[in-house]
Amino acid sequence: MMEQYFEVKENLPRDTLLLFRLGDFYEMFYEDAVMASKLLGLTLTKRHDYPMAGIPYHAANNYVGKLLAAGKKVAICDQAESGKIVGKLVRRQLTRILTPGTTLDAAQLDAARNHYLCALAHDRRGLHAAWLDLTTGEFKVATDPRPENLLPVLTALDPAELITAEGALDAWKNAPHEQTALHALANFCATRLVSELPAYQFETASAVRTVMTALGVLNLEGFGLSVSHPGLGPAGALVYYATENLCAKPETLRGLQEYRSAATLLLDPATLRNLEIFASIRGTRDGSLLTALNRTATAAGARLLERWLAAPTLDLPAIRRRQLIVGELLAAPSVLSDLRDRLGAVRDIPRILGRLQNRLRNPRELGGIRDTLAQLPAVHETLAALPVSEISSLKTQIHELPSLRDHLPRALGDELPADLQDGNYIRTGYDPELDRLRSLTTDNKTWLSDLERAEQERTGIRSLKIRFTNNFGYYIEVTKANLHLVPADYIRRQTTVGGERYVTEALKQKEKEIFHAEENALARELALFTDLVTAVLDESLALAQTADTLAELDVLAGWARLARDWDYSRPELDDTDILEITEGRHPVVEQMLKDPSAPAAAVTGPQSFVPNDTALSASEAQIALITGPNMAGKSTYIRQVALITLMAQIGCWVPAKSCRIGLVDRIFSRVGASDDLARGNSTFMVEMNETANILNNATDRSLIILDEIGRGTSTYDGLSIAWAVVEHLHRDETCGPRTLFATHYQELTQLEKHLPRLRNYSVAVKEWNDDIVFVRRVVPGAADRSYGIQVARLAGLPLTVIDRAKTILTKLESDDTTVELTTPKARPRKKITVKPDDAAQMNFL
Ligand code: ADP
Repeated sequence: MMEQYFEVKENLPRDTLLLFRLGDFYEMFYEDAVMASKLLGLTLTKRHDYPMAGIPYHAANNYVGKLLAAGKKVAICDQAESGKIVGKLVRRQLTRILTPGTTLDAAQLDAARNHYLCALAHDRRGLHAAWLDLTTGEFKVATDPRPENLLPVLTALDPAELITAEGALDAWKNAPHEQTALHALANFCATRLVSELPAYQFETASAVRTVMTALGVLNLEGFGLSVSHPGLGPAGALVYYATENLCAKPETLRGLQEYRSAATLLLDPATLRNLEIFASIRGTRDGSLLTALNRTATAAGARLLERWLAAPTLDLPAIRRRQLIVGELLAAPSVLSDLRDRLGAVRDIPRILGRLQNRLRNPRELGGIRDTLAQLPAVHETLAALPVSEISSLKTQIHELPSLRDHLPRALGDELPADLQDGNYIRTGYDPELDRLRSLTTDNKTWLSDLERAEQERTGIRSLKIRFTNNFGYYIEVTKANLHLVPADYIRRQTTVGGERYVTEALKQKEKEIFHAEENALARELALFTDLVTAVLDESLALAQTADTLAELDVLAGWARLARDWDYSRPELDDTDILEITEGRHPVVEQMLKDPSAPAAAVTGPQSFVPNDTALSASEAQIALITGPNMAGKSTYIRQVALITLMAQIGCWVPAKSCRIGLVDRIFSRVGASDDLARGNSTFMVEMNETANILNNATDRSLIILDEIGRGTSTYDGLSIAWAVVEHLHRDETCGPRTLFATHYQELTQLEKHLPRLRNYSVAVKEWNDDIVFVRRVVPGAADRSYGIQVARLAGLPLTVIDRAKTILTKLESDDTTVELTTPKARPRKKITVKPDDAAQMNFL
């Protein structure tokens, strides 16, 4: 057996733990056992002096999931024949290697998230990438001369595992400092599991052949791809890697699409983070835009929503089509609720197909197909109530597959085991031969209980029992007290704490018959099951299209529900350079304010969300400069504009009374002080990096939101930088990127005089007896003061400090350039001098 073990182990890639099936356990040996016992908290045992650790076969998924989450790779070696025959060495073979990017098992995957394996290559022509979700078969290639165009979408896809050519990552890390694109690439890889392959796996010519074989096509023209597309190298590497790990050709792949950055709204990585698109700043999914927009009833729907958000399309007709379907569903409440009920019973068909195609089969997967097909007639009927062409065309892509729909419930039992070995998933009455084999087993079981009774009588041992274990088969159990009654024909097999175990010739004979009948019945069931799987896979294209369409309907029905619950409106999208929002709200903050479980707002202000208007256009009101005290609502306001724009461009309705947006090609943000200290960058450096990225990459069609830029340095440095940034954004004579700029630098408001396309706004506060009240209203015109001291008071600074600050402020604001400030008693008197220079500097503005 250990010879078998070493043979498999030798051929595995380094750093792969081998799980070796021994009866009801997966065992690990040597350093694998040591490592796994640490990671999984297993007891380490010894066998012939070498360390060993095991996990029960039935709980393996759970443990494997933990190993993958710890970034390990796990090879599974299974028994290639039944282990029921006692005492014989069974054949074993490597079944698959699981890695974070190639696992297909439902227990190791988040159902609501896509799961990508991504390969990267970089050369003189730029960055080339391919990504593949093995669980569903989504497969894409992309290339861009500028890595910064491609990295945003890769970040949004958040791959579970990356593949690069040997040495590539080191080269990117060690690239000369000015090669910022390569450093960005290295940074992208830094936080993820990277697996390396020999460089020749990335060579385009052989990769093209690998890809074509995997897709079962003779050329790639059907996918609109030329054989020289530089993304094909990485695509070939992906297919190779997947094949190695699955120990078979990946059967999920349906096609290969090209991703084009020019066809999508780009959200750079900083913006994804700052705007909390997929996760909140705290790293939770709660509080993200994704969660706020997710009302899906199916896992496939949730994944589609994630994909739409990661790469919003710039295709106006496609966006309008989604908006229209949302509108139709919204206008028909009973259709909407029926449809959502039906979708609630739909199972994860794409992933089920992925597993069936890749030999990961169990009866429940077929049950999932059966249950889903059962919903389809009602889905059709429900949709028939909405006779618009957009919905009719969706209907034609939901295939009812009547013969499969009838066949599966006839063949499958109501309750299905998770494991094929457990048997009993085929319904009685479906197959006469199976019924016959099963009745043999039943007869044998009756024979056993008859024997038990007969032996009790013959021996006079009332407690005599016939029992079964996997290791010993059937035996007669006699307790210690009764041993003197055991007849001579009993053959002793084993002594236990409580008594002895025996067999008889008749029992041994029967055992053989039982195993035989059970095995035959199981084999028959398995053959029937395999036929059913074939019948399902024969329809895999129709099933996949149906599943895709249901997922789309699910997202859109969810949005209709969202629009109804939160009173959203349908945005108007066009090719203009306008961005107009009437009574817009922040989709996430609004929902949180209404959430009864959320803590009440700590600071005085309205309890429900206050809507605000926005009016921008690239050629007229290009830059909105928003001033106002801290806590007034500036960042909330500028984020809400960015989020509404993003929502509009994925086809969702928006939290506003009305809204008109000329398509935006990129959304940039520089918001808040997000620290990157772990990577050795100061807050200020991060801020400046993000700003540089914006200034270098924004186009006239972009939307930019900037918050408190220049805060991380001295006042004058910061102010000067902010000033120059605004001028730069405004530099063009006629138009520039639509920009919202929130700042606490009052001085910047003077820019309105010099820059014709800049407009001043402020977030109003009410003053009342030296207190301020936040009203959350954005109004035209600059703020007159910053109210810092009042806000500090609301924050609970001691009153003595507040009073003292007021005195200092009054003196600093007075025209005196040299002020003597008296420090409070108890301390020696000290002279603080404000240099005349400082005051003079303010005037250069
Ligand atoms: P600033 O950027 O001006 O310091 P924020 O945008 O961070 O202020 O807003 C401060 C708080 O006010 C936030 O916690 C938010 O919940 C609340 N808030 C902001 N805008 C609104 C609004 N329009 N309606 C209700 N509450 C708001």
